[in-house]
Amino acid sequence: MPAAQALGIGSAGDIDPNTGCVVFATDSIPAWAGTPLRTHFETALDLPVAVDNDGNAMALGEARFGAARGGRHVIGLTVGTGIGGGLILDGRVFHGRMGVAGAAGHIVIQAAHGLPCVCGGRGCLEMYASGPAIETAYQRLRGTSVTGGVKALQRLAEAGDDAARLAIAGGASALGVGIASLLNLLNPDCVVIAGGVAQLGEPYLEQVRAAVHLHAKAPMRDTPILPSALGVQANLIGAAALAWDRLDATSAA
Ligand SMILES: [Zn+2]
Repeated sequence: MPAAQALGIGSAGDIDPNTGCVVFATDSIPAWAGTPLRTHFETALDLPVAVDNDGNAMALGEARFGAARGGRHVIGLTVGTGIGGGLILDGRVFHGRMGVAGAAGHIVIQAAHGLPCVCGGRGCLEMYASGPAIETAYQRLRGTSVTGGVKALQRLAEAGDDAARLAIAGGASALGVGIASLLNLLNPDCVVIAGGVAQLGEPYLEQVRAAVHLHAKAPMRDTPILPSALGVQANLIGAAALAWDRLDATSAA
């Protein structure tokens, strides 16, 4: 096997793509914020290193090699414990001014009386469409909690549990509302959905598409909403693509 020529990292937290440093992370990884990932690994390996947020890396992986292959403008969403995302515009990750663009989980879908969010805001998409949000909705409807996450809820729904069916439908509808705004704003080639909730499969995605169709403008309402083709590999493959890009930039300089 040839020796590695560069390293790509898709990391949790907000990453400054210029310095490769973690600028913000929640307490789920204590003391992660402030970690100079790029400097650490460049020093240790003596290789060019590219670091980006894992949502951005996932979106880039799917845009270059996965479900959105060939797309120039791609929105990638990871719907799981939280909702992460990445924007690929003109074939590249769109970072915004401070490097933290693409926080799709925190677009506001419910301004008045919105549920409080971990980000400090209210009514964020994540509070309605993530896995825990769907489980909480079920608990509210049924009066009991469920173990086994959204997959267990899907089995209950299939067995005739209306609360489970409504909880999943509510999550799908909320996601569709959020995606509709993103489509209206960005007019991408497609949206790729990954993560644990997306593993509910086509019945779930059909409900997401129905909500998109209801809320997005024509002709954006018919934008393909696709399941991830690369699954958990998307982040790794996208990080490798970032490494190639960095290598190209380094050799061109
Ligand atoms: Zn939020």
